[in-house]
Amino acid sequence: YNGQLDEIIRTEADILRRLKEAVRQETLEVWYQPIMRLNDNRFSTAEALVRLPNGKGGFFSAGQVISLAERSGIVEELGDYVLRRACLFMRECGKGLGLRRIGVNLSVQQLLVGNSADHLLRLIQSTGIDPQFVTLEITESVLIQSIDQAAQALEKLRQAGVHIALDDFGVGYSSLNYLSNLPVDIIMIDRSLTRQILTSPKQYALLKSIVDMASINELSVVAEGGETQEEQQAIAKTGLSYIQGYYYARPMPEEELNHFLSQ
Ligand code: C2E
Ligand code: MG
Ligand code: MG
Repeated sequence: YNGQLDEIIRTEADILRRLKEAVRQETLEVWYQPIMRLNDNRFSTAEALVRLPNGKGGFFSAGQVISLAERSGIVEELGDYVLRRACLFMRECGKGLGLRRIGVNLSVQQLLVGNSADHLLRLIQSTGIDPQFVTLEITESVLIQSIDQAAQALEKLRQAGVHIALDDFGVGYSSLNYLSNLPVDIIMIDRSLTRQILTSPKQYALLKSIVDMASINELSVVAEGGETQEEQQAIAKTGLSYIQGYYYARPMPEEELNHFLSQ
């Protein structure tokens, strides 16, 4: 047990050291996963995902990097970095590639600090793009826990044109009841709900009812997952509008996305 604990501590220290250095030297990578709009079969948005090189030719898992950054008090700096990079990419290439928006994940700390909306809007505008080209993604669990503090900031962001997405929908807290009251424009259904779509009629019915409920509330729905054609077809049958899955495209570096979408 002690050996395992030592190993975890060493890995985390390694990640933290590399992360701080990568932010300072601006070598931290931001990859993009295009999202398919089903009504016209086009990639109309993409999600920015952080990628920290592990020094062995691969990358640490984004989830691990973010959770460590959150615990170490550097997630605001990391979040600003990713947002700025994604906005600059959108300014340079977005239109030419047919992207209407770029999605960026937000940690709770970024939202709950004072003046978070002003800070984020200033940052977006400083890159020269209009806030209407940005979607900020907030995880469902976080939003529900801190809705009172977060609502004002989210409303301010939305008034400036930013879209707000409820990320990881379906992990734990979900209640269809509150969908009508939240200051959000999009819900992103977690892969845990789409994974069993082919084998479980119950899971399909649940997905379908989420999509119907979202549509009543005029929310867009993105399904995360869909790795095979069969999965993709079953998900699409629920009537939702967007799919983000390996079947269409994996996350990729900026140059690769340029190439991929140009084709
Ligand atoms: P997320 O925001 O829900 O992002 C979607 C995740 O699902 C990505 O994992 C993506 O690679 C994965 N995914 C998409 N389609 C498929 C599929 O068909 N099959 C499978 N198995 N997976 C698929 P990734 O890049 O590892 O990111 C994990 C999480 O880390 C993200 O989940 C997000 O919560 C967090 N994250 C990543 N970048 C950032 C960031 O810049 N800031 C913050 N705060 N969080 C981030
Ligand atoms: Mg996300
Ligand atoms: Mg998600």
